[in-house]
Amino acid sequence: MSYKAFHQRSLTERDAFWSEQAALIDWHQPPQQVCDYSNPPFARWFVGGLTNLCHNAVDRHVATRGDQAALIAVSTETNTERSYSFSELHREVQRMAAALQELGVGKGDRVLIYMPMIAEAAFAMLACTRIGALHTVVFGGFASGALASRIDDAEPKVIVSADGGSRGGKAVPYKPLLDEAIQLAQHKPGAVLLVERGLVPLNFLAGRDHSWRALRDKHLDAVVPCEWVDATHPSYTLYTSGTTGKPKGVQRDTGGYAVALAASMKHIFQGQPGETYFSTSDIGWVVGHSYIVYGPLIAGMATILYEGLPTRPDAGIWWQLVEKYKVTRMFSAPTAVRVLKKQDPAYLSKYDLSSLKALYLAGEPLDEPTAQWISSALNVPIIDNYWQTESGWPILTLANGVQAQTSKFGSPGVAMYGYDVKLFDESTGEELHGANQKGVVAIEGPLPPGCMQTVWRDDQRFVNTYWKSIPGKLVYSTFDWGIRDEDGYFFILGRTDDVINVAGHRLGTREIEESISSHPNVAEVAVVGVADNLKGQVAMAFVVPKDAGSAESPEARLRLEGEIMKVVDGQLGAVARPSRVIIVNVLPKTRSGKLLRRALQAVCEGRDPGDLTTMDDPAALQQVRDLMAPAA
Ligand code: AMP
Repeated sequence: MSYKAFHQRSLTERDAFWSEQAALIDWHQPPQQVCDYSNPPFARWFVGGLTNLCHNAVDRHVATRGDQAALIAVSTETNTERSYSFSELHREVQRMAAALQELGVGKGDRVLIYMPMIAEAAFAMLACTRIGALHTVVFGGFASGALASRIDDAEPKVIVSADGGSRGGKAVPYKPLLDEAIQLAQHKPGAVLLVERGLVPLNFLAGRDHSWRALRDKHLDAVVPCEWVDATHPSYTLYTSGTTGKPKGVQRDTGGYAVALAASMKHIFQGQPGETYFSTSDIGWVVGHSYIVYGPLIAGMATILYEGLPTRPDAGIWWQLVEKYKVTRMFSAPTAVRVLKKQDPAYLSKYDLSSLKALYLAGEPLDEPTAQWISSALNVPIIDNYWQTESGWPILTLANGVQAQTSKFGSPGVAMYGYDVKLFDESTGEELHGANQKGVVAIEGPLPPGCMQTVWRDDQRFVNTYWKSIPGKLVYSTFDWGIRDEDGYFFILGRTDDVINVAGHRLGTREIEESISSHPNVAEVAVVGVADNLKGQVAMAFVVPKDAGSAESPEARLRLEGEIMKVVDGQLGAVARPSRVIIVNVLPKTRSGKLLRRALQAVCEGRDPGDLTTMDDPAALQQVRDLMAPAA
């Protein structure tokens, strides 16, 4: 069947199509209804079915491939490498599940996971879905303020963490940040479970903090059966940034997600049981959830969980792992490839990469020079894919498992099966049918299985944020601009909102602005995303100080800039730190007081800021130009 017909069928014979995909996973009780869309935009997939994510990722493989590798945890930070077979993973997950149960976790409870990239993080995720609890992984690079707001929203019964992570050989303590976050948060978790890696000395708070080592020892022989949950039972929440300062808890179901991942492993990633999958992402992001932990395991593949930099001990480390573990499918981000492109190309020819069949890249636009370079270096298909935390799996790419299609540079590909992707005029709401017309990329409901069910505890926010932005239409907005060519290939042209993308990580400028505003000497602030050769975009902050003297001399500016960077580091984490903080006397605004973000961004990128006739004070932009000049 051609891919076009396959995609068409997924929309016109939706239930029959997804019922066939549902057979890719194990059901304790088969679903009675494929899709309930009686209350749009809320889609309920595989209604009446009982299943379990952990069962599908782990248990069902134990009988057939129990001795095969399931999880390969590699750390070039601690120089450790440990491979867990499906049987070993099964045992570890049950130990973790028993520990969580002892700490009071049951079905529907939340467990917040704030962990470095170690095997125990995956055990904890799988243990949660095993017992019907929801995990909320918070990226280890976030600091106490960001963590506290997520604790308050998720209200976890237990937090699982570790003494620390490590970056570039330097230990990064986690526990002090966690303690501070719990102090800041209104909600207090009942217990904290701590993995002791021996990286940083740990203090245990009596009555609250528990040692994983001790609980694991106690539950070495634990038998914790999988809790069969409704297909619509939430499996996890994952926070993502939007246009407001408050991150949204993207909530995902169980059955739809398991089916979507199993189907994507077959049709898109073409992974075979017994092969090895290597995704270089982090469990704190959606790629980590879908394609480090659940996707490859559901497909019976071994998955590599990597802690470390792509350039340490040298820029050959990823290729060394590909050779050693005979990786067939690899998943990364354009930024990482750009980092490697700066290194000696000899690292790529040093290893036997003949096992590798494709490299998938996602998270940010893939520029042509990067794609060309890696494609000629690896000599395998480089497959761009476009998706979001909300979708959980690719919206646009090539489903080469259905029919091999050629890539077009600059395009992530065509609409994936199940996604009725359309383009709309932002102001009139009119659908754009013609080729190469620019519009907002949107998806007609129901969203396919695996996509977010709602915003955690805020159905209204789900509807208002995602489904009400195209005038007169109830369609899901991706908040990305795009065009579609005559062959159905989409090209993504950037966000329609103030969300920025730094090295493939989505950051909300509002969240950074709120953090900067908490500095006592900040009167006004604007954060914009500015094009960057390596990271795609970086955040730049423009600050008007309360004390005008802080903008007078270079020394005073530098001092305030340093202080502001520290505030962001302490509250949100280095991941959100602006690349520059520019102290100005006034921000460029229209006469009606609207901030001219796009003009600011244009000046930073050395472009023409466009029509400025409505600007209140022309000197504002000139000052930005002058201050930016030395860095250009
Ligand atoms: P996140 O939810 O953090 O994965 O961010 C999703 C956003 O990243 C999308 O809405 C796009 O703006 C951007 N994005 C992800 N993948 C791609 C891609 N392949 N090409 C262009 N932009 C992408």
